[in-house]
Amino acid sequence: MHASHHKQHLSGAERIVAAEKIESVATELVQRAQSKGCPPDRISITIDALGDRMPRALQALDVITLTAPDSDSGRSIALTALQHAGVSFHAARKAITDISRGASPSGQVMRGAMIVDAESGSRLEPDQERGVRASRFDWSDEAKDDIKRKLSAIGLMHFRTREALALATKITHAPGIVAELCWSDDPEYTAGYVASPGMGYVRLSHLKKSGDSNGGRAFFVNAESFTLAEFIEYVHQEPVLIVETGNCRQETTAEIFFAGHPTHLNTR
Ligand code: AMP
Repeated sequence: MHASHHKQHLSGAERIVAAEKIESVATELVQRAQSKGCPPDRISITIDALGDRMPRALQALDVITLTAPDSDSGRSIALTALQHAGVSFHAARKAITDISRGASPSGQVMRGAMIVDAESGSRLEPDQERGVRASRFDWSDEAKDDIKRKLSAIGLMHFRTREALALATKITHAPGIVAELCWSDDPEYTAGYVASPGMGYVRLSHLKKSGDSNGGRAFFVNAESFTLAEFIEYVHQEPVLIVETGNCRQETTAEIFFAGHPTHLNTR
């Protein structure tokens, strides 16, 4: 589902469902599109048959929240986390700046994600206005119940966390991926995350100030280890069903967390 107002992205969601659930899920998604503060003037729902393409079964990333009482501390921790994952200081800082001011060339929120060279910080997505949208991912019914329970136990009740965790899990299995950075464009939702195959899903409760409607996503890649076409094909087309949950740990400080991840910090 994608909802927009005056061609500006408002909200989106992805599901993988059995054929008999299409109608009820479509209704759910329309309600979701209309529940945003700003009423959309366009809601599109695209329904694709997966045919004989069996979804790839994945285990969700482990989840941890690092204490970040305000957006400055959140962004500083995100910068460190990205460097721990192998992103250069320059590329990480540039992506944070791009997202904070509206990452499309016209300075608006993108509908999809930037693809960023993890070393040079160059933007690689073919359409910088739109970005690339991860599609075709969802939780199995059992894993969804399990993750709701585990996330609630650490105080994370919002559906956004669950959906972002599903997206991040798909993306960390993409060819050439190094890390992902995201914060929401919803002005009331200040949380975001850094995710990587080695660190898991590292949530930060503040990556922006309340009331700020800029947000976005960056997929950092090692451009030498894959072709862009392969990466985009995976992001758009490969169906992924998350059938198993990971660990969901209590909030801790960045110092404690990074001490347990003694990886080489990319300071370039
Ligand atoms: P949200 O957390 O839904 O507010 O999304 C935050 C930002 O991530 C949006 O402004 C988009 O730029 C980007 N985004 C949202 N959904 C997707 C997706 N499915 N694939 C890639 N990027 C997305």
